[in-house]
Amino acid sequence: MSAQETEDVTFRDTISIVNKEGGRKWIYPKSPNGRFTIARTIVSTLLVGFLFAMPFIKVKGHPYFLLNILERKFIIFGTVFVPQDFYLFGLIMITLFVSLFLVTAVFGRIFCGWVCPQTIFLEMVFRKIEYIIEGDYLRQIALANSEWNLSKTLKKGLKYLIFFIVSFLIANIFLAWIIGIDNLWKIINEPVSQHLTGFISILAFTGIFYFVFAWFREQACILVCPYGRLQSVLLDKNSVVIAYDYIRGEPRGKLKNKKNENLGDCIDCKLCVNVCPTGIDIRNGTQLECVNCTACIDACDSIMDKVSRPRGLIRYDSMEGIATKTGFKITPRVIGYSSVLAVLLILVTYLFVSRKDFDVNILRTPGMLFQNQPDNKVSNMYNLKVSNKTFDEVPLDFKLQGVEGEIKIIEHEVNLKPLEIHEGTLLISLPKEKIKLTNTPLKIEVYSDGKLTDVISTSFLGPQN
Ligand code: SF4
Ligand code: SF4
Repeated sequence: MSAQETEDVTFRDTISIVNKEGGRKWIYPKSPNGRFTIARTIVSTLLVGFLFAMPFIKVKGHPYFLLNILERKFIIFGTVFVPQDFYLFGLIMITLFVSLFLVTAVFGRIFCGWVCPQTIFLEMVFRKIEYIIEGDYLRQIALANSEWNLSKTLKKGLKYLIFFIVSFLIANIFLAWIIGIDNLWKIINEPVSQHLTGFISILAFTGIFYFVFAWFREQACILVCPYGRLQSVLLDKNSVVIAYDYIRGEPRGKLKNKKNENLGDCIDCKLCVNVCPTGIDIRNGTQLECVNCTACIDACDSIMDKVSRPRGLIRYDSMEGIATKTGFKITPRVIGYSSVLAVLLILVTYLFVSRKDFDVNILRTPGMLFQNQPDNKVSNMYNLKVSNKTFDEVPLDFKLQGVEGEIKIIEHEVNLKPLEIHEGTLLISLPKEKIKLTNTPLKIEVYSDGKLTDVISTSFLGPQN
């Protein structure tokens, strides 16, 4: 049992972001520095670069990525997903969630620290702007507590102006992911009156991002994010989290007492608390507020270097690993998540590979029986629905398989335009003498550019012989 569990447990009665009066406690974290901060800065730069660059990337004049939730049209790595692919898209989403559960069971909240846009923008963009303009945490606290004067007004004004501009840029890119960069250019370049909805969307997104990053901040992770709330059920004592080695660190004590007492490695400098953007003390154990930002690892490592102790008093480790000094264990939970994930991946791969570039649906027109034709033929009417999931034109032709007869496309030929959904009618006629059953099974071959691409099963109603 850890020292903090047996001694001071008052931390359980408070929330790091709420003061004694019940109001908001503004967090002023010290600027982090160290190998994990450098690594996270590189990863964040790549991810922000990806976010900003992708809407501009096109293949054959079409976006490489598009998440148009309004029209339910998604393009991922250049592949189009239309509403007919919803089952596949849903399955991919479930696979992503199971992957996230597995990663969380193994590595804890690593997603939050390294990948989540909220943490990346807050810690790597907005907080860095704040450090540049207002200085490190002690200067920020001093500025916040000082009287309003010209210098404070200029600093705060400049900071919030830049925050607004960055929020505006993020809002534009966010919209470009949804409606595409071409439509965004139109909103920017054409009169506002022609794109009122788009213009209002940009302003609304700007307002939301500004509110979240300038004011709401860590509360999004602690109070709102559903993934954060799920940590208590996703983690167990074998999950690798950012953890304080209480066995090595306790009993903690100031450096000046180290020679006299049998103290642990923690010199109680509180640097790990000062750098924490959610204001917690990781020495109290794993907490829901921890977003795995790694700042406390870097802070503590710098102290361990100074006092000539090994690094890693705070490190990536599991509670079990710290207690028993054993390595990572594969638990039944990890095996369970991995098995489900493997099945889902196989299923998604199969559906993806077998997915056709266009869907063809042929159904006998409801409520219609057969029609007798003058040349001793019998006909049935069919409803045709075809959706083209590509950016190419797709000409389609239909033939009966293994039966003498003819297919007539009513209205005009089926020549699908890019992403077009075509609805039409087919008339199938068979010679009367060939019809042996009142309900004859029928197979229709679908050809595109002379190539057989699909075979549709349906039935043909005929007179009783
Ligand atoms: S406890 Fe450490 S890793 Fe967790 S949020 Fe605070 S500084 Fe980041
Ligand atoms: S930074 Fe390390 S040494 Fe300092 S208080 Fe935190 S755990 Fe202890």
